[in-house]
Amino acid sequence: MIIASKEIFKLEVFYVFLDAGCRMQDAGLRDAGCRMQDAGCRMQDAGCRMQDAGCRIAGYQMTDMDERKDFKSALNVMEGVEQPGQVDADAVKKLKAKRQQALSAEDFVRGIISENRTVLSIAITMIESSLHAHQQKAQEIINACLPFSGKSIRIGITGVPGVGKSTFIEALGMSLTSAGHHIAVLAIDPSSTRSKGSILGDKTRMEELSVNEKAYIRPSPSAGSLGGVARKTRETIILCEAAGFDVILVETVGVGQSETTVRSMVDFFLLLMLSGAGDELQGIKRGIMEMADAIIINKADGDNINKAKAATIEYKNALHLYPPAESGWNPVVDICSAQSRTGIEKVWDYVKSYSEKTRQNGYFVHQRKEQFRQVLTDTIDQALKHDFYNRGDIARALKHYEKEVLEGNLSPYTAAAEMLKINGETVKLY
Ligand code: GDP
Repeated sequence: MIIASKEIFKLEVFYVFLDAGCRMQDAGLRDAGCRMQDAGCRMQDAGCRMQDAGCRIAGYQMTDMDERKDFKSALNVMEGVEQPGQVDADAVKKLKAKRQQALSAEDFVRGIISENRTVLSIAITMIESSLHAHQQKAQEIINACLPFSGKSIRIGITGVPGVGKSTFIEALGMSLTSAGHHIAVLAIDPSSTRSKGSILGDKTRMEELSVNEKAYIRPSPSAGSLGGVARKTRETIILCEAAGFDVILVETVGVGQSETTVRSMVDFFLLLMLSGAGDELQGIKRGIMEMADAIIINKADGDNINKAKAATIEYKNALHLYPPAESGWNPVVDICSAQSRTGIEKVWDYVKSYSEKTRQNGYFVHQRKEQFRQVLTDTIDQALKHDFYNRGDIARALKHYEKEVLEGNLSPYTAAAEMLKINGETVKLY
């Protein structure tokens, strides 16, 4: 079989990772040994991070990569790599775990606050890991990083697929980095469990930004519930801030629940829209418009400019119907073209004005505190529920009481009270 040279190169990259003591974690490549399909996508991230890390992973000089003319950027390695049969997934996992344990929590914190991208990436991988030991260490790292965090502006960006989110982030990111900012781009993608981290993965996205040394792009954690992914993203924000990133962009796909989640972790929420398509067509629920601090009509270029301008009037009128925001900020509606990079600076001006205004009136700090408070109670809720429903005696009793309720022998409230008694709690239901 003839194997194309590009394919050979991909395999080479794969073996370099293994050879480097499976530091694929360093590059944000989870489960690299066993999920090479996934690794194909993550290599985008890996490519940038390896460059960030001075193109050195365990002593291997990636300068070789630069010399390959057919290799424009790491983002072009996308189709994934077949997993060779001889890879012992268990051994790879153990090796990776050992490597991670080698760094103490203090080492991590020192590395993160001295802006070492490689250490930051390993720490984020620990946050994403489901291993208990990793979680424990991750929590130590997060707590130690907390005093160094919080100094960024966190911006949530949403809009339906195709509206131009990644093009916009690339444009905004390039503009901000050239003005001296350091930006981190994170993503929440509820579909990523199914599509193995499709966001920032399966298509060429943010090519310029991904090789920009002032930018750090981290794909969405690909496993777990939206709640789990949200927690990981919140914790990742803390580490990124401690690592000196002063603008955090959190992207989400406009499909309902994830916007609310992203709203609850950012300071400023930006909704990208298209002109000429109704809200319903764009899948944007009214509640999402209500959460937005700015609605920006993208693709305002070519023949589309007038339509985009007309759309701003519609959205401004629609926004008047909502009650004034608690922040004291009046949401803005404007146009931009991410592709021709017009109107992007204006969006940043809105963010700055919002930040100034809400810092002055106290809302900025109030909102962040509220977000922390919410995380605290949500986490307790989730843990209690998880613990409750995973108990064998509860599961058995639930089956019994469900039957009683469905057959009309017992009211659901009485059954719930009986269930809670089993838990040993005296909980008032009313
Ligand atoms: P996402 O799915 O929301 O991240 O959207 P993308 O950034 O991938 O963009 C989807 C398509 O719209 C791509 O083909 C882009 O080139 C195109 N696009 C993005 N922004 C603009 C814009 O401002 N003007 C025009 N004409 N096309 C754009």
